[in-house]
Amino acid sequence: MLKSGAMTRACGDIESAMLKILRTDFGFQSFRPNQEGIIKSLLGGRDVFSVMPTGAGKSLCYQLPAVMMEGTAVIISPLISLMKDQVDAALENGIPSAFMNSTMDSREISDVYRQLKAGEIKLLYLAPERFAMPHFLESLKTFQVSLFAIDEAHCISEWGHDFRPDYLRLSVIPKAFPYLPVAAFTATATLRVQEEIIRKIGLRNAYTVRASFNRENLFYEVKQKRNLELQMLEFLMEHKGEPGIIYRTTRDSVAETASFLVSKGIKALPYHAGIGPGERTRNQEAFNRDEVQVVVATIAFGMGIDKSNVRFVIHGDLPKNVEGYYQETGRAGRDGEPARCLLFFSRGDIPKIRYFIDRIETTDEHSAALEKLNQMAGYASHNICRRKQLLGFFGENYPGDNCHACDICSGSAEQYDMTVDAQIIMSAVSRTGQRFGIGHIIDVVTGADTKNIRERGHNEIKTYGAGKQKNKRHWQDIIYELLAQDLVEQEGTPYPVLKLTRKGLDVLYGRQRAFGLKKEESVLSRPAGTEEYDQTLFERLRALRKRMAIEQDIPPYVIFSDRTLHEMCRHFPGTKDEMRSINGVGDTKLERYGEEFTGEIKNYIHENPGINIERKTADVSRRSPSSDKKGQSARNSYELFQKGLSIDDISKQRGLEAATVASHLAQAIREGHDFDIGRIMDPARRKEIEAVFLRLGEWKLKPVVEHFGGAAGYAEVGLVRAWLQRKKNKE
Ligand code: ADP
Ligand code: MG
Repeated sequence: MLKSGAMTRACGDIESAMLKILRTDFGFQSFRPNQEGIIKSLLGGRDVFSVMPTGAGKSLCYQLPAVMMEGTAVIISPLISLMKDQVDAALENGIPSAFMNSTMDSREISDVYRQLKAGEIKLLYLAPERFAMPHFLESLKTFQVSLFAIDEAHCISEWGHDFRPDYLRLSVIPKAFPYLPVAAFTATATLRVQEEIIRKIGLRNAYTVRASFNRENLFYEVKQKRNLELQMLEFLMEHKGEPGIIYRTTRDSVAETASFLVSKGIKALPYHAGIGPGERTRNQEAFNRDEVQVVVATIAFGMGIDKSNVRFVIHGDLPKNVEGYYQETGRAGRDGEPARCLLFFSRGDIPKIRYFIDRIETTDEHSAALEKLNQMAGYASHNICRRKQLLGFFGENYPGDNCHACDICSGSAEQYDMTVDAQIIMSAVSRTGQRFGIGHIIDVVTGADTKNIRERGHNEIKTYGAGKQKNKRHWQDIIYELLAQDLVEQEGTPYPVLKLTRKGLDVLYGRQRAFGLKKEESVLSRPAGTEEYDQTLFERLRALRKRMAIEQDIPPYVIFSDRTLHEMCRHFPGTKDEMRSINGVGDTKLERYGEEFTGEIKNYIHENPGINIERKTADVSRRSPSSDKKGQSARNSYELFQKGLSIDDISKQRGLEAATVASHLAQAIREGHDFDIGRIMDPARRKEIEAVFLRLGEWKLKPVVEHFGGAAGYAEVGLVRAWLQRKKNKE
């Protein structure tokens, strides 16, 4: 009894100690999923194996226990280029850290050893190659180690896609340090790879976590590739200044795209294996430090990139497989803020990849590669939630009906009604007795004159030739779509036949309709879950962050992540205490940067009286009872307007900023109230502004205001936006 009470108390103590360090040292309010369990296991001396997607917060899982435990945590990480950033980030949080790698001379190395022996270092980063050096294990025993953490642990797997022979040496760790916990982390592992990692390192009864692969903040979309360069440029115009990665397949296309973007005034740099290592590192660094907006790269660019504020990942060409695609898109939005993953898809890319696949000599490998390519093409072309497809690939079932954050679920992918074509195929399947494969069914609907058809009398059935005005390719696509949507299924090997599913029967008998993806692009879509923040202030804080980063020679996101800045731009912290309540601001950062950031925020509020605070309360009010008050205020303005007062009159009478009154009227427009917009601006002017919204294809105010370069203000543009949104809703 007594004992278990003591136990509970002890656990409670550990939990509150963990939480305290999370808040004071890291500046976070609460743990993310799985972090707590992993940390507790390590504190209790147990091994850990964890698959958590990029951005889930794996580093904290070993950094936090390292802070709490005696001695130094040894972290094995594959890339030298990453180590420095990780050490910088830890130092920023006030955690004494160091790395050891081949770029350092012996004096620097022995200096690190001196600090280790003095117990001055909490985190030590190493590359796996170091374990190949003679006597390295012994030197690890000259100081106190608290735990071992192996990052990117999938590199030990020969089945995965990133095997590094040096990782195999890490199996000595549990043998040489039987009493210390070892943790292995990766963002990508199928069950088979997971089993291989655990076995090869030799983890002992590891606490195992397999987190969901779902990345909620990523918006997935696919567009038909037409004029790629212009399409990318258009995207970049809509995402001015946002950092992002553009992947292309070949070195030539990387070089071309990069120079095209530069010629259009966009700060872009290329990255591929053909560029010398020095320049490669420089380009990557420039990207890390927000000195360039875009890196155009082959898939050689990736592992070394730990930048948390990548706002988009564009694929200009079809990737070879879904696994790679998931990893590459995973580099977007590590900070948890919304980010976009856009794939430009053209069927023309398929034969290019096939060309390489057809050169694979082993039959198994060849068919596996082909299968993977088909899955990838399927992802791009089927009318099925992109998220569902990606998760399904990793054996995970997405539970919802609508993810609200892909082009399919948000309705921004244009669909067309394919019911009639679906019925033609299904009717042919049904009338031939559900005993034939894809090729024969296509022959039937296109009215082919084959021996098989004549012998079986299939030229007599009602659907024979019903689809002859369209080509075979079209019917093949329809069948693939029906298969993907489970409207028909294949049964039997090696010659699978098509059968109707229950769902398919509903379509065949007209009880349900079937939809496919149109090959055209959409207008006016906006990622779900985008929370508003003051963009102008964000620009200013970002500039401040960059100045400070340059002074200290560290990447900007190490100071504060975009997510943290966004939060500041929602809550306008003007005092130290308010600043402390922002996620990502811990004690050390508060000391170092608090004053300058609150100062900048106060200046901004001072220079822009009214509008920003108004915008802030508007945001909060959307979810709180004060929305009634705000609503009432808007109604008052609207009533005065209906009585014939101008915006200026109302603003004088009510003692409000004109911009605030305009936002009230915009609300009235959106809510569908009777409104004569002609009283505020003439139709030509309105149409001019509307046209810019339509051209830019999104609802953000800022790009439109910028487009007019001072000739139109937020208030006016906001009114037109409301008007246009109302029109669109009526359509
Ligand atoms: P991973 O290694 O899993 O890809 P990181 O360790 O780089 O992810 O963490 C991604 C981001 O999430 C970092 O900016 C990190 O500071 C942040 N983060 C980690 N844990 C938390 C938490 N508990 N609350 C808020 N942010 C967190
Ligand atoms: Mg990581």
